[in-house]
Amino acid sequence: MQYLPLVRIYILYPMCQKHHTSQHPSHFEGSAEEQQTANQVQANYLEYIKDFKFFDPHIHMTSRTTDDYQAMADAGILAIIEPAFWLGQPRTGVATFKDYYSSLVGWERFRSSQFGIKHYCTIGLNSREANNEPLAEQVMEILPLFLYKEGVVGVGEIGYDDQTAAEDKYYRLQLELAKEANLPVQVHTPHRDKRKGTERSMAVALEHGIDPSMVIIDHNNEETVKSVLDKGFWAAFTIYPFTKMGNERMVEIVKQYGPERIMINSAADWGISDPLAVPKTAALMQMKGISAEAIRLVTYQNAIDAFAQSGQIQVEDFASGNTIDQSKTFNGNTILRGGQQPRVDKNSLFIR
Ligand SMILES: [Zn+2]
Repeated sequence: MQYLPLVRIYILYPMCQKHHTSQHPSHFEGSAEEQQTANQVQANYLEYIKDFKFFDPHIHMTSRTTDDYQAMADAGILAIIEPAFWLGQPRTGVATFKDYYSSLVGWERFRSSQFGIKHYCTIGLNSREANNEPLAEQVMEILPLFLYKEGVVGVGEIGYDDQTAAEDKYYRLQLELAKEANLPVQVHTPHRDKRKGTERSMAVALEHGIDPSMVIIDHNNEETVKSVLDKGFWAAFTIYPFTKMGNERMVEIVKQYGPERIMINSAADWGISDPLAVPKTAALMQMKGISAEAIRLVTYQNAIDAFAQSGQIQVEDFASGNTIDQSKTFNGNTILRGGQQPRVDKNSLFIR
């Protein structure tokens, strides 16, 4: 799936698990002013964010191309978190979960490094597949094998989809795993009954004795943000192209609530989504008069602060840019194809 380089930026309901096609009611079609702003951002958004660096705490790179990685690096994305999620069709056995988790801490991390982007991940059983209980039981067995690996910054993305009893059971079991491993929790909130699902996600986390500061509630909107912030949780927002909710709403949310404990992400995956959503939204915020410090917090620092509680994020690993060495291999495999010259950027001068 190619990213859409100059799409309009809109906040939207995430598609990570979009088996339901129901659309949320549109209360808002883009105004003429918004349209104009969007066009301006499209034209040269990189101009607005030259001095910014970004951290996208929710993106599914396994589904994306090397062009995406390159464009993300060019836009100033220094580091990302890839949550384990649903692949668009149900898995049929535990072995494919195992291989998927292995790829998140292995090959995908390597692929990311080849573009100078530091790659972290969260590991968990997604809510959709929690409904296959015999398989879910087997997945629970292997989760601890991955949760303690280097670069795993949380348990995620977990939570509710249809809010079934099975989802509740495996959400709770995984909260316990997070508690034991002292890892943050990345919570996917449902698209339907979002408000109820979000409240329930938080109530159950509290019931399990988890401190709200260790929980990132994802895919918020105007209906949920106040309660999430009031209760002391982190509030993440997913920005997607081509939805009916206007991009200006993210700007309004930051204006209204301030930047504290708010973070934005692209949640780009195998569906129509935009891996550049974070830098593009930063450009929009810049245009709309949000302070540089507030932009820095919601597009970089807050995500780091939240997930660094895992003890697995060292900012110096990426803050001043990453070294790229495409002559490296992963288990003998490379991103280069026959005859291609590896790109080698080193910080020191004259290394050939
Ligand atoms: Zn996702």
